[in-house]
Amino acid sequence: MKLQQLRAQFSEHQIDAMLVTNPINVSYLSGFTGDDSYILVTKDEAIFLTDARYTEQVKHETEGFRLVERKSTLLEEVVREVKETNVQSVGFEKEYVTFATYQLFEKYIDAKMIGTAGMIEKLRLIKTPEEIKIIKVACGIVDQTFDYILSFIKPGMTELQVSNEMEHYMRKLGAKSSSFDTIVASGWRSALPHGTATDKIIEKGDIVTLDFGALYNGYISDTTRTIAVGEPSDQLKEIYDIVLNAQILGVDALKPGMTGKEADAVTRDYITKHGYGEAFGHSTGHGIGREVHEAPGLSHRSSTVLQPGMCVTCEPGIYIPGVGGVRIEDDVLITETGHEVLTRSKKDLIIL
Ligand code: ZN
Ligand code: ZN
Repeated sequence: MKLQQLRAQFSEHQIDAMLVTNPINVSYLSGFTGDDSYILVTKDEAIFLTDARYTEQVKHETEGFRLVERKSTLLEEVVREVKETNVQSVGFEKEYVTFATYQLFEKYIDAKMIGTAGMIEKLRLIKTPEEIKIIKVACGIVDQTFDYILSFIKPGMTELQVSNEMEHYMRKLGAKSSSFDTIVASGWRSALPHGTATDKIIEKGDIVTLDFGALYNGYISDTTRTIAVGEPSDQLKEIYDIVLNAQILGVDALKPGMTGKEADAVTRDYITKHGYGEAFGHSTGHGIGREVHEAPGLSHRSSTVLQPGMCVTCEPGIYIPGVGGVRIEDDVLITETGHEVLTRSKKDLIIL
């Protein structure tokens, strides 16, 4: 099915085969979980090129490919396959090929090499029911982890102690790992939108932003909750309420047919109306799937129209240097009738 959708794009790009080298796209098309492998998709077959370390794994994990265990370099096998299959023009993923590799393609592959972009990413935009099922498990893991970590965080701990505990807990629940370096940003550091955990000590009165995700079965979740350790200042409470209302509005508005730009405007307009537009410096959300940041973006630059099967985050925030910041983020599936929220942790301000 995915391979058919890829082949359907061949004529538009004037290619009669596609060489897939980005490991994430190789996994996406085949289900293979290793690396160092290429896929060559021609009009009539799909060839999986790997080495002896992975032969058995490929047999177990993939279906519908002709398996080639390379005897020399991957490039030489591609050169040979292109010749044998009599392919005339080969597309390659120009955003994932180094200049040096491209030069080797040009020199050795006896076909016209055509750089393409986004052919597989376009397929990845719309999640299949199987992919959605996996993403829901990844979302369940972060919800349970948030629940657990609330009982763990105490003033006097470092941010790293908290992030390490979260990592361990997510793995205990079946995650392969976290899907990115966990953000635990406390006190003044909560004003850093991407403040990954440090050895800063979490103190009473600190607001703490936890932005984290689980990598499960090749797919990720990505959620943020901001909590308070001890009573926060009135200003931080005010900011919290604005972000919370913006986030609820933003999620509620998500539906097929709207553009990424329109989705972004919902949270941004609300925050701007309440005087903090300047303090909301990032986009409202991004697509999730095999990667933490994939299409579609929910930003003022995104003209992508939301469609059923897309998975996006909604994560407005307000950051005031020297004071602190608040961000709240959920993962949301776009459905035929609107949306389904996949991360379900409580969003009212929790004061530990
Ligand atoms: Zn996040
Ligand atoms: Zn995110």
